[in-house]
Amino acid sequence: MTNHIFRLLEEEGVPTHLVEELSDRETAVKKVEIVPLEVIVRNVSAGSFAKKLGIEEGRQLLCPTLEFSYKDDALGDPFINKYYALALGLATQEELDTIAKYAFKVNEVMIKYFDSIGIRLIDFKIEFGRTADGTIILADEVSPDTCRLWDKETNEKLDKDRFRRDLGNVEDAYEEVFKRLGIK
Ligand code: UDP
Repeated sequence: MTNHIFRLLEEEGVPTHLVEELSDRETAVKKVEIVPLEVIVRNVSAGSFAKKLGIEEGRQLLCPTLEFSYKDDALGDPFINKYYALALGLATQEELDTIAKYAFKVNEVMIKYFDSIGIRLIDFKIEFGRTADGTIILADEVSPDTCRLWDKETNEKLDKDRFRRDLGNVEDAYEEVFKRLGIK
C-alpha cells in the first residue's frame, strides 16, 4: 500500500524513498537517516487530538493542522513543537520548512485520492529521512496502520482503530482499502 501511495506522491512532486518494488514482500528504498520526528497532519478531530482538547471525534477542522512528536518509544513519543526540534538539534529550520511543505502536499494529494475511492482522510502520521547528500525525502510508510481512514458514506473505520478499539473485522477493513486502491 505504501509503494502504491508513494508512487502517486512522486508523480505529484513529493520525493520518497521508493526505488523499486522487488516482490510482494520486498522493496528497494533509498538509504536515509530518519529525522526523529513523527509528523502528524489532521483534517478531522480524532484520537489524541479529540481527547486532549475535549472535542468530539469527527468534527471537520477549519484547516489542516501539523504537529510533531519526538520519536522515542520509551517516552511514548511526546508532543513537541518546532522550537524543541531546533533546540534539540533534531532538524534545521530549513529541514522543518521542507517537512511542513511536503506534509501539507501529501495531505492535499491523499485527501483527493482517498475521496475518489470513497474514503475520508481523517489524519495520518508520516516520517522523513535525510539522504547521504542531506536531501529530505518521505520515508517509512503510509497505510491504514498510520492513517485514519473512514468510509465517506457511513464513517465506518477502515484503519488500525478497528484493532485498537476492538471493533473486529480488521482484516476485512484492510482488504477493503486494498480493493479500493486497486491493489487487490
Ligand atoms: N500514528 C501513528 N503512529 C504513532 C502515533 C500515531 O501512525 O505512533 C497515527 C495514527 O494512526 C493517526 C495519527 O497518527 O492516524 C494521529 O494519531 P493520534 O495523535 O490521534 O494518536 P492515537 O489516538 O492514534 O494514539
